[in-house]
Amino acid sequence: MARTIIVSNRLPVKVQRDSNGDLQYKSSEGGLATGLGSIYKDGDNVWVGWPGLYFKDKNKAQKAEVTEKLTSENMDPVYLSESEIKLFYEGFSNETLWPTFHYFNQYALYKKSYYDAYKKVNQKFCDAVLELANPDDTIWIHDYQLMLVPDMIRQKLPDASIGFFLHIPFPSFEVFRLLPWRRELLDGVLGSDLVGFHTYDDMRHFLSAVSRICFIGNQQGQITKDRRTIMIDSFPIGIDYDKYANSSAAPSTLSKEVKFRTSMGDQKLMLSIDRLDYSKGIAARLEIFDIFLSKYPEYQNKISLIMVVVPSRDTVEKYKNLKEEVDLLVGRINGKYGSMNWTPIHYFYRSFPLDDLSAFYRMADVALVTPMRDGMNLVCKEYVASKLDKKGVLILSEMAGASKELSEALIVNPNDKHQVVDAIYKALTMPVEEQEKHMAFMQKAIKKFDIHHWVKLFLDRLNSVKEQQKVMG
Ligand code: UDP
Repeated sequence: MARTIIVSNRLPVKVQRDSNGDLQYKSSEGGLATGLGSIYKDGDNVWVGWPGLYFKDKNKAQKAEVTEKLTSENMDPVYLSESEIKLFYEGFSNETLWPTFHYFNQYALYKKSYYDAYKKVNQKFCDAVLELANPDDTIWIHDYQLMLVPDMIRQKLPDASIGFFLHIPFPSFEVFRLLPWRRELLDGVLGSDLVGFHTYDDMRHFLSAVSRICFIGNQQGQITKDRRTIMIDSFPIGIDYDKYANSSAAPSTLSKEVKFRTSMGDQKLMLSIDRLDYSKGIAARLEIFDIFLSKYPEYQNKISLIMVVVPSRDTVEKYKNLKEEVDLLVGRINGKYGSMNWTPIHYFYRSFPLDDLSAFYRMADVALVTPMRDGMNLVCKEYVASKLDKKGVLILSEMAGASKELSEALIVNPNDKHQVVDAIYKALTMPVEEQEKHMAFMQKAIKKFDIHHWVKLFLDRLNSVKEQQKVMG
């Protein structure tokens, strides 16, 4: 029977060494791992990816132990060296593709050594798949770290069903064309039978790049290359709705909420949660809060911003600088407005377990989600799913993929600081019935189009594209 092979940079399990050098296995709680969990654990299916640690030659026995353990749980580890991670992951993926695809092309580095490593590592992933795959298997490749893999596999398995999904935005042609390796990247992705994006705009940008760079046109999202039809479409990713709704109702979450509430006092609360990343607009959001407190001084002493910033990519220079900028801004605003019994910004530079996050979501009168650019943004969907009493207001950047679905939120342009300031005021003064109406509407959509729906939709579509190819011969 044909099986399904999932391929992503990281496996859904992270292997780490503890302080004694012993191995620890930590399952990812991310949405993708949850959504694909029922797929890769089934029968002979398998997930191919990097387990998250390096092995020196003297650690051969430990490496064999990891391989055995992961293999027994339907995972196939691809081992990467420290220098591969530096050049392929931190380098080409995060210093070339990430900034370009998020419209921060002035941050992008165009280094041949990065691209060479990217190609080599993509070949490694391809080889790992080829070791396992049968000619008629379904292979689903994920994200910007592995854009060359679909075509590498296609060259060896011409009849395989290959799907590719990009979890970050795809930029407009004028930005994408700046990449020296634009043609190779497109040809790589076009080895797929189905290419998925979060939004219609991402899909359009991709089709336009294919037309301008590869000179291949499309008909309703369908293109033909080497006499094979390839379908391009949008599949907005969802969250594990029940997990967030259930966690929000759990006794451990309620007791956390009581604890936090007691220590913060009776104030309005606004919440922001992101990984530390320049695409998230964290510094601009702090400036917006500063303007809000001076434009609406009646809210001084009456509102606090809970700002969670999760450490990320701290080996990359741009991220280190951003951390310093955020630290300074938080200090400046707290110093400017704070009093003995009021802290304007409660700033946390770390990650939290789910019951803490759920308590934050429950407590927040307003969620301020204002990325400069975001493929989807899951935090805003999690906030909505956690609002069991339907009270609360979401302010959402139009640059987040989620804004295309959550049109009942207060949609803002994060560069228009005064617009966002006024949206905060509007959110804080919104009548409860209006809050409930918007929240109910958004909950209905997010509940229906959850992560399980997304996985099924993509795989069913890949199947039907393949059937259609057979009919057309
Ligand atoms: N998150 C988490 N712990 C934290 C803060 C955030 O696990 O302390 C999760 C959050 O619940 C969400 C994810 O990190 O599922 C962030 O996803 P999003 O799409 O918003 O942004 P990304 O980091 O993928 O760019």
